[in-house]
Parts: sequence; C-alpha cells; structure tokens
Amino acid sequence: MEKGKLFVISGPSGAGKGTICNELIKQSNVALSVSMTTRPPRRGEIEGQSYYFVTEERFVEEIGRDGFLEHASIFGNYYGTPKQAVYEYLEKGRDVILEIDVQGAMQVRRSCPDAIFIFVLPPDLDELAFRMTGRGTESPEQMSRRLEQACVEIARVVDYNYFIVNDKLQDAVESILAIIRAEHSRVTDTIVSRIAAYGMASGCSEN
Ligand code: 5GP
Repeated sequence: MEKGKLFVISGPSGAGKGTICNELIKQSNVALSVSMTTRPPRRGEIEGQSYYFVTEERFVEEIGRDGFLEHASIFGNYYGTPKQAVYEYLEKGRDVILEIDVQGAMQVRRSCPDAIFIFVLPPDLDELAFRMTGRGTESPEQMSRRLEQACVEIARVVDYNYFIVNDKLQDAVESILAIIRAEHSRVTDTIVSRIAAYGMASGCSEN
C-alpha cells in the first residue's frame, strides 16, 4: 500500500487556517494531527480534538522521550506535534495535515523532506486585524503582539511550496484539495521504479 502524504499548513494567526483545516477533514479523507500545548483552552475548545492541553511538566517529559515530530514555543506557550499518531496515519496510507507555525514547519522540513508545505495568507493585514478582533479572545496587547508576529511570519512564505489566499473559505479549501490531488499525481522515484519493474522504462529509447 502506498504511504500517505504529509501536508504542513502554516500562516499567521487569524489567517483562517483552523477553519480551513476543519473543512478539509469534513470534505476529504485527510487526517488532522492534534497538537499538544501548554496554552490554556479557549472557550469551546475540546480536549483531544482542538489540542491535548497539558502542563509544562508533561510537555517537557514528552520532549524527553522524543515524542514530538516538531515543537516550538509560541507566545510564551509550548506547542508540539505528537509523532506516533502522524506516523501511524501515514503508514496506513492516510494523508495527514499539520497546522503548525513556521518554526515547526522548518523542523518538519528537516525530518520529513517529502512533506508538502502550504502557506495560508489573509486577504490583507486590515482583514487579519479584523478577524483577530472578531475572535474576541485576545487582549489589545496580545493582539498587537500577534499582529507584529504575523508580519514576520508572512515574510517566510518563500520557504513554502504553495500559497493560498484565504479570501473565500470554500475557494481556499478547494485550492488545498487540488494541491493534495496534484501531489498524488507527482512523478516520484517509487512510480519510476514501479514502471521500470514492468520493463517499460526504456520503451521508447531506441527510436
Ligand atoms: P493558537 O494558540 O491560536 O491555537 O495557535 C497559535 C499558533 O500555534 C498557530 O500559528 C498554530 O498554527 C500554531 N500551532 C498549533 N499547534 C502547533 C504545533 O503542534 N506545533 C507548532 N510548531 N505550532 C503549532
């Protein structure tokens, strides 16, 4: 069976990554990795679904047992991708999405060079500020810190394979589904060696 593919989605806080990822799991068979964090839950967030909410002690313990594919400190809290669940999905042929920040994405690039990196951009910075205010969960200081960080993060789009602008939710979702489909049609070494095994690789070379 062919292994699943790993898709990494990043973008500034407020760009709408979370909403896009929720739609992706509804509209396709991709699995969304559930991160572990030391950040306290926001209203409406569900343990084991939004995040695994843990103490700093528990998080550090997990780092010690090499349980993370990547981890980072963001806005004073730790966030990490539990390794085992991701590998299990991939082994079973399921595509996996990681919704993580740019620091984490660069760690994944080193450990999983075949991963595909997608950056979600907000339509513009005013819209980003508006979306962050709309969430109503951040204080003015936290918001300006997140907005400043957003500008720094947007500059990292150059490190990604694809970018999408989250202007309309369904368009953004469909763009990512198209990227996923396209990546499954990529000519890879596996495909080339399979074709070679059928003796077809050099079929036209004598003409
Ligand atoms: P929030 O606190 O708003 O849920 O997330 C803050 C930032 O942490 C977002 O940019 C989100 O993508 C990122 N994030 C969430 N989970 C992880 C993770 O497991 N690893 C890393 N590196 N970043 C994460």
